[in-house]
Amino acid sequence: MLKIKKKNIRKIYNTPEIVKFCKNCVVSNQRPRISFDKDGICNACVNIKNKIKINWKDREKELKQLLSKYRKNNGKFDVIVPSSGGKDSAVVAHKLKYKYNMNPLTVTWAPHVYTDIGWKNFQALIHSGLSNILGTPNGLVHRRLTRESLIEIGDPFQPFIYGQVSFPVKMALQFDVKLIMDGENGEFEYGGDNEASEKSFSPKDEIKFWFSDFEAKKWLKKGFTKKDMDIYIPPSIDEIVSKKINRQFWSYFNFWDPQEHYYYSTKNTGFKANPDGRSEGTYSKYASLDDAIDGFHFYFMFLKFGIGRATSDAAHEIRDNHLTRNEAVRLVKKYDGEFPIKYYKKFLEYCNLTEVEFQQICDSWRAKHLWTKKNKKWQLVKQVS
Ligand SMILES: [Zn+2]
Repeated sequence: MLKIKKKNIRKIYNTPEIVKFCKNCVVSNQRPRISFDKDGICNACVNIKNKIKINWKDREKELKQLLSKYRKNNGKFDVIVPSSGGKDSAVVAHKLKYKYNMNPLTVTWAPHVYTDIGWKNFQALIHSGLSNILGTPNGLVHRRLTRESLIEIGDPFQPFIYGQVSFPVKMALQFDVKLIMDGENGEFEYGGDNEASEKSFSPKDEIKFWFSDFEAKKWLKKGFTKKDMDIYIPPSIDEIVSKKINRQFWSYFNFWDPQEHYYYSTKNTGFKANPDGRSEGTYSKYASLDDAIDGFHFYFMFLKFGIGRATSDAAHEIRDNHLTRNEAVRLVKKYDGEFPIKYYKKFLEYCNLTEVEFQQICDSWRAKHLWTKKNKKWQLVKQVS
């Protein structure tokens, strides 16, 4: 048995006691940092609605101007594209190279445990004509950090997120590339802090939005050494500023539509949807396929906030007019919070946890204002309808 205390979710994430769902999509007010307007519409929906007013031709002009400032004609890489090998970053990298004549270096922070389809898609992207650097941290440290992150932060994905944010910047410094092109700004696209910039990635936002207020260096006080943690710790803000690293979001310049990305990447970068059908916890076959353990990231999100992977996927599809709200509600009720049984054994083994210990961790992160037990089964107090 582990010695762990029950967490106070509302205090940690500053989430409201009374659950409300957006009147337009299916996301609730439990998503950290999201806000709702007086008509009960979440800020992600408002943001996406406002996109209709955007003149995308002007945005493309802006993109071309930006790229012309950074394009190198000496054969060196001129833009870094952080990439998992998934469909979204594949579109960004492929278009930068073939449509905008840039010389991108795709930079990948390795998943905890590659899935077969994730590895195949990653290789296909490289073979569509893109160079790549794959960063893989020390496996022993990474496992320990994943285990401790699950216990301390309620998210086994935290070590992945550190690398996903920091590693591209480190490679930009290493290869003397000044421009980094990220995909979408999650705060803007999925709902979050209104202060988050739609256009560029501020290193100051890292801790709050990306690291959930838990910086990599905090682990130095929790039994990890400098040698363990160096690869996870981002370069200092001073260094990023003095080296003039410019990190932008592709979603500012191009309408961000995951379904369109699926079609484009299938055609151009050899991307394939999951051959086993939909991913656990959702109805989608093409999102977030690379890491065998990512179902647990979404499962813990469900315990803490009462909204899971199907909610995220369906909310975005309503905003993009691919689903009606009624269809989305049905999909959420069917799939949200489904336990990721497929890789459960692998996950326990990876984290060196017993089933009892894992259940203890789940219980410690289950938000008490969201859940009630009926007939020995946990149920959400309020579900989307
Ligand atoms: Zn909404």
